[in-house]
Amino acid sequence: MSNSNTANLYIVSAPSGAGKTTLCRAVLDRLKCITYSVSYTTRKPRKGEHNGVDYNFITTKDFKKGIETGRWAEWAEVYGNYYGTSAEFLDNCLSSGNDILLDIDVQGAMQIIERYLDSITVFILPPSLDVLRSRLESRGADSKQSIVKRLAAAEKEMEKKDLYQHVIVNDNLSDAVSELIKIIEKYR
Ligand code: ADP
Ligand code: 5GP
Repeated sequence: MSNSNTANLYIVSAPSGAGKTTLCRAVLDRLKCITYSVSYTTRKPRKGEHNGVDYNFITTKDFKKGIETGRWAEWAEVYGNYYGTSAEFLDNCLSSGNDILLDIDVQGAMQIIERYLDSITVFILPPSLDVLRSRLESRGADSKQSIVKRLAAAEKEMEKKDLYQHVIVNDNLSDAVSELIKIIEKYR
């Protein structure tokens, strides 16, 4: 499917802890006319996360039912949990001319670019693996075991960065926010 002539679909991917949630929030605060696609997940909410805002938290049974009924525009198993994007939500946004921002993993991004051919893809890199580890640790949201899983996946995920049209290194946060805004505005 080609996107509508007026609405853009932006995909942001990064290894966990690189700062894409922080970056996306800052960009969404500054650019009011872009809609965030709230994903569905079977992961348990972290402290401070709200249902319907950060994620739609659902059961594994409901997630799997969604796979069977074609509810997801893309879905993937990431770090032991299921994550998916509502096809209905994306199609409604695009057909009413609203730009959308997706924060999804590499597997999901590859599915979206096949389905929405004009998608704009951005990969966020941490300055180094050491910085990535310390960001995961200082976030204080994941268990030691979960951090080990996320770091082990990070190197493999970063190898996929060349599949993306744009790459941003999230070193200084305000520089990275400006870069992402510049990319978004370039396509408008
Ligand atoms: P992700 O969504 O990619 O998993 P987060 O946005 O949760 O990552 O960021 C991980 C941690 O790193 C958070 O504690 C966040 O405050 C911090 N962080 C994000 N970007 C930067 C940055 N540019 N410099 C320093 N710390 C950052
Ligand atoms: P976290 O559990 O740290 O919020 O997210 C873990 C990973 O899942 C991140 O790489 C994030 O981008 C990815 N993710 C979040 N939502 C979705 C989604 O709807 N689909 C896919 N494929 N990945 C997602």
